[in-house]
Amino acid sequence: TKAIARHFVSGDKLFAEKQVVRAVDGVDLIVKRGETLSIVGESGCGKSTLARLLVRLIQPTSGQVFYDGNDISKLSQGDMRRLRKDLQFVFQDPFSSLNPRMTVGSIIEEPLKVHTKLSRAERSQKVADLLRKVGLRAEFANRYPHEFSGGQRQRIGIARALASGPKIIIGDEPVSALDVSVQAQVINLLEDLKDELDLTLVLIAHDLAVIRHMSDRVAVMYLGEIVEQAETNDLYDRPLHPYTQALMQAIPIPSPHARSMGTELKGDVPSPLNPPGGCRFHTRCPHATDLCANKKPALVQADNNRLVACHHWQVVASCHDTEISEPQ
Ligand code: SF4
Ligand code: MG
Repeated sequence: TKAIARHFVSGDKLFAEKQVVRAVDGVDLIVKRGETLSIVGESGCGKSTLARLLVRLIQPTSGQVFYDGNDISKLSQGDMRRLRKDLQFVFQDPFSSLNPRMTVGSIIEEPLKVHTKLSRAERSQKVADLLRKVGLRAEFANRYPHEFSGGQRQRIGIARALASGPKIIIGDEPVSALDVSVQAQVINLLEDLKDELDLTLVLIAHDLAVIRHMSDRVAVMYLGEIVEQAETNDLYDRPLHPYTQALMQAIPIPSPHARSMGTELKGDVPSPLNPPGGCRFHTRCPHATDLCANKKPALVQADNNRLVACHHWQVVASCHDTEISEPQ
């Protein structure tokens, strides 16, 4: 698989209430063409910021984002427009992300005006096609967002994202605001569209349960840093980072492996305004040592193409191995 977007941001700063928040720090993330990559972590860990950096909805203060081999901060206006056509966003809240004063048809038509040379008649035909593609009726084009349920609104948001013919869709918790019964339908829709349209999906999520079955790879974030990145099955079968292990335990029906690992999170997520030194997870980690409080672990290659940022991942992984071998 060819790497098409390579993300490297170090020391990114966001200004929030006059304080400097380092929301996404030292992230090194590769998104491969045609895959579904999920980025997982607790609220406030910087996932949404990372996703917005990827499509340049916000500018990194330092670091680079590469797309198709080009550093996107160096792109011309025209190239940036082409990039926006390729990279589209589905937002978390379908209630605030659709303009209430625009009809559904004009919401979906907007990117067609910006990115295509279609005539008015061709655009309304295309809007009808897009509505049907996301499982809605073409007549809905004349109605307003408030007339629809959360799930239907998210379908409208997906239709808008598809209008420009994107290659990558970034979903920022696209189902977390929806009823559980509707979540699976929207996830299935995204999966079907991915196959049909040959899309690359980047999904932001706060728990591991929802994204397991649709992710090829998972990146786990803690306080603005990627702490582990692995193929989905490797990550769920044998999480190497103590934080990933703790997230596994938070899944409503944990795997027998996760159940036996005994990693439970202590305390709250520290403020991103003043993250702990050394390993940012050391204040909550059951495996922490003096080294962890003093030295930041690098993201290193572990087995099977996976990356982990923990001084003691080998020990942590082998504890886990010992525990799961007990029943034999
Ligand atoms: Fe825990 Fe230390 Fe690993 Fe950080 S580096 S996750 S504190 S064991
Ligand atoms: Mg968020």
